[in-house]
Amino acid sequence: MTLVLTNAQVIDCVAPAAGTPTSVSDRGRVAAGASVTIEGGRIVAVQRGGRSPSIGGADVIDLRGSYLLPGLWDVHVHLEWPRVPAATVAQLTAQYAANARAALVESGTTGIRTAGTPHFIDVALKRAVVAGRWDGPRMFNAGWFLTTTAGHALGTGFAKTCDGPDGIVREIREGMQNGIDHVKLNLTGGIMGPSWDRHTHSFFLPEELEAAFTICRQRGYPVMAHAASADAVKAALRHGAWTVEHGYVMDDECLTLFREHDAWYVPTLGITHLTPDQASTPAEKRWVAERGLTPDLIRRAEDAVAEHRRWFQKALRSGVKMALGSDIRPVKDAVLLEMGLWVKDGATPWQTLLAATRHAAELCGVVSDVGTIQPGKLADLIVVRGNPLEYVEHLRSLELVLKEGRLVADRRS
Ligand SMILES: [Zn+2]
Repeated sequence: MTLVLTNAQVIDCVAPAAGTPTSVSDRGRVAAGASVTIEGGRIVAVQRGGRSPSIGGADVIDLRGSYLLPGLWDVHVHLEWPRVPAATVAQLTAQYAANARAALVESGTTGIRTAGTPHFIDVALKRAVVAGRWDGPRMFNAGWFLTTTAGHALGTGFAKTCDGPDGIVREIREGMQNGIDHVKLNLTGGIMGPSWDRHTHSFFLPEELEAAFTICRQRGYPVMAHAASADAVKAALRHGAWTVEHGYVMDDECLTLFREHDAWYVPTLGITHLTPDQASTPAEKRWVAERGLTPDLIRRAEDAVAEHRRWFQKALRSGVKMALGSDIRPVKDAVLLEMGLWVKDGATPWQTLLAATRHAAELCGVVSDVGTIQPGKLADLIVVRGNPLEYVEHLRSLELVLKEGRLVADRRS
């Protein structure tokens, strides 16, 4: 089965690895009049400059000058929303599947990395995708969000408390046995939590942290570390975390350690930037109105935002490897809101697009298979009407979504 996408403006997202210093004048490139040929789910040819592809016997989709780019990624996802009190596992499973599917077909999110999911529902969904029984995004899964008693996110239903080195190691092993891809460790409080859960509070004792990282290292599982303060970011990096999430408060030593340890920063701007006073685009205003955050959470986000923005900007400038992860719900709205916030905070649309494609795939260890438009890659692709390199909100003009070369959404009227 051959599919040819013709008359495309291709943004291939081919770029140096994350963390490579790039010139601010690098605005990305568009290849006009291009065509992409897909066979067996993989890209086999990219032809530029109006050269005609061979289309004998192939299905052809004329993109009429629309923009073709790699599918988007959100590398910090929670699939629940809305929160249903006392939901059964069956209810949650149906809800998570619907939300993941909506992210794929409504916003072109072809890849996600989960950051806390109860009952290994994320693993079950991934298995259905891999087996070809369900069209969802490509998934990399944490299973439970591991925290301590008096930890963070306890009211969400996706957090599991474990205490002491033995307790923590047991839960990590449970996750491995249940098919997770990485281990989500909660080192500090967060913006969203009760009074005893502040983002400046560190939760694990040194011996608990040591045990958690030792078992992960020994078994070859990357650690996704929720760390909101400078001390916790440094502790995570020194122990060998693969990614650090949030980093609301950091210092220059944190940035040095990111580079020394070749670790990733996932800034989750949405947590502090989406409040009634800060929302400026129609999509942001709609999200804030629908979300209905409590006054306390709004105040905590407002209190943290200036510092968060400063470290995001410093990390971006200093060559820390960064990928796009939102931590906001529902996941269908998350990636585009977060991309808008990156641009508002000073990232170029090109940097932002790379963070949500090539670099996200690199973070998940699959950049040899996805994340760019190149021969040999799996055809996880989206088509949008407007040029996102000129205006990132053009990603909202979604027309097509392809997953491994199959059309999973056609939104052209
Ligand atoms: Zn999260």
